[in-house]
Amino acid sequence: MRLDKVLANQGFGSRKIVKQLIKKGKVVIDGKAIRDSSHHVNPEESEITVNGVVLDYREFVYIMMNKPKGVISATKDKKETCVTDLIDTQYEPFSVFPVGRLDKDTVGLMLLTNDGDLAHRLLSPQKHVDKLYEAQIKGQVTEDDVHAFKEGIELEDGYVTKPAQLEIIKSDDISEVKVTISEGKFHQIRRMFSSRGHRVEELKRLKIGSLSLDSSLELGDYRELSQEEVKVLQ
Ligand code: URA
Repeated sequence: MRLDKVLANQGFGSRKIVKQLIKKGKVVIDGKAIRDSSHHVNPEESEITVNGVVLDYREFVYIMMNKPKGVISATKDKKETCVTDLIDTQYEPFSVFPVGRLDKDTVGLMLLTNDGDLAHRLLSPQKHVDKLYEAQIKGQVTEDDVHAFKEGIELEDGYVTKPAQLEIIKSDDISEVKVTISEGKFHQIRRMFSSRGHRVEELKRLKIGSLSLDSSLELGDYRELSQEEVKVLQ
């Protein structure tokens, strides 16, 4: 890959800025200053330093966000704020996108990456990746609801959901529950409760597969996944 492209992709600025860096001799490959922007380099094999700092080259970026309310799971929108708008511009060159969707009013674990294969695996209906949510439900949730979730719920369009696990934490005027689903149909949990005559007041995703939301992340905060976390998703 061209040297200027490698550096631009890694977030060192526009091609123009990167070309200036290279021209000034600030970029060293395997111990030798390279002043030619069109120089070809394999960033996985060569050691590249920029201003004396070794480049930690990576092709893919994996970010976990605690998605706040009022933000949509998209990369670009004329009117709405998108999850990618909350991410620092240093990640722009990686063109990350959200893996799957959460409703505008749902909070919690959102994964953003530029690793299309991983996203495909996590979203593929054949893979049945479990997603765990906690929810507040208007009205009392009962063992009948638990049973119905386990059997599969017929939604208003006739679709019958795959078996889902409903755990009652507290049954009251506002009930607290945990729900695990392996699908990702549009508004699925809200529609499942609606079919049972309940309204979802609050919804938060806690887990995707074995990846848990970092409880130290405030709403709107994000961080990169550790290598171990990326591994558990593979
Ligand atoms: N189910 C929903 O209804 N909404 C979400 O955001 C996620 C799952």
